[in-house]
Amino acid sequence: MKRILITGALGQIGTELTVKLRELYGEENVLPTDLRIPERGKMKDTPFEILDVTDSDAVMEMTKKFKPDTIIHLAALLSAVAEREPKRAWEINMGGLMNTLEAAREVGALYFTPSSIGSFGPSTPKDNTPQETVQRPSTMYGVNKVAGELLLDYYHERFGVDTRSVRFPGLISYEQEPGGGTTDYACEIYFEALKNGSYKSFIDKGTFMDMMYIDDAINCIIDLLEADPEKLTVRNAFNVSAMSVDPEMVAASIRKHIPEFELGYDVDPMRQAIAESWPNSLNCDEAKKQWNFKCAYDLDKMTEKMLSGIREQMN
Ligand code: NAD
Repeated sequence: MKRILITGALGQIGTELTVKLRELYGEENVLPTDLRIPERGKMKDTPFEILDVTDSDAVMEMTKKFKPDTIIHLAALLSAVAEREPKRAWEINMGGLMNTLEAAREVGALYFTPSSIGSFGPSTPKDNTPQETVQRPSTMYGVNKVAGELLLDYYHERFGVDTRSVRFPGLISYEQEPGGGTTDYACEIYFEALKNGSYKSFIDKGTFMDMMYIDDAINCIIDLLEADPEKLTVRNAFNVSAMSVDPEMVAASIRKHIPEFELGYDVDPMRQAIAESWPNSLNCDEAKKQWNFKCAYDLDKMTEKMLSGIREQMN
């Protein structure tokens, strides 16, 4: 049985991960935290704590009180937001990471936090990007993620903390709005397809990025949490991905259900530059080998799920 403390639990990942973990391990064994109390959704009126991850004393106090055997650290500023507010991104992304790592060290908890395809940069090989390769990102978010990966290695080697992570691609879901990432177009496009029958993408035609449907991302976290520590040689972050797509491919998949759907472009130079600095497609062999990483959703299956989920929400 696990006892799990989650930070940033009201975000795109935490909203769905908390519910799944509670199904598996019991409501009382999973404590979600964030900057505010949930006012709607499945976490409303269930055990929940306010926790600002930049407050080191509060993080340590909450950890000692709840006594988790696992800390899942999700609180962060995402790529596009971090690029607009680099100083605040450093404070939240690095401060939060250090404070939660220290708490994990103090109580001997397993520690999971996601890295990102944003940890790669323009000089990284773009196709079939290897597990071990050049990581010289050109964004503040990427700098934070590389520093974070190095810290996970450091805490594992120096203090024996059981650190685990994955480099998530863009995550696609409909329950919670994405938090300001560069791959958000691939969520918005489904909402707009159903509401207006058209979408103007802020990412340009022909720009390929890795993506994954949220259910696969949640299962991926759970599989990695349950993996045998002896089998894991990668402690900074595993490459994981389900598909590599550009806006035209997503539109073509949507047209199988909404034939009149129109895709146009209104490219945002900042997010386009970030996208162009990231890989086209990751090599995920190490994750498959070491903890049996797998995905159930390809693009068309994800499109079906997104459209039916959003339709249900609209009714
Ligand atoms: P999100 O932006 O949807 O949610 C982040 C949550 O953190 C929000 O609920 C916010 O209120 C909270 N938060 C912000 N500052 C905080 C603070 N000081 N203290 C406590 N909470 C704070 O993010 P997400 O998409 O759920 O991402 C979670 C993690 O996964 C992040 O590390 C992110 O970089 C990583 N990731 C996400 C994606 C993606 O596509 N969603 C892809 C790759 C990596």
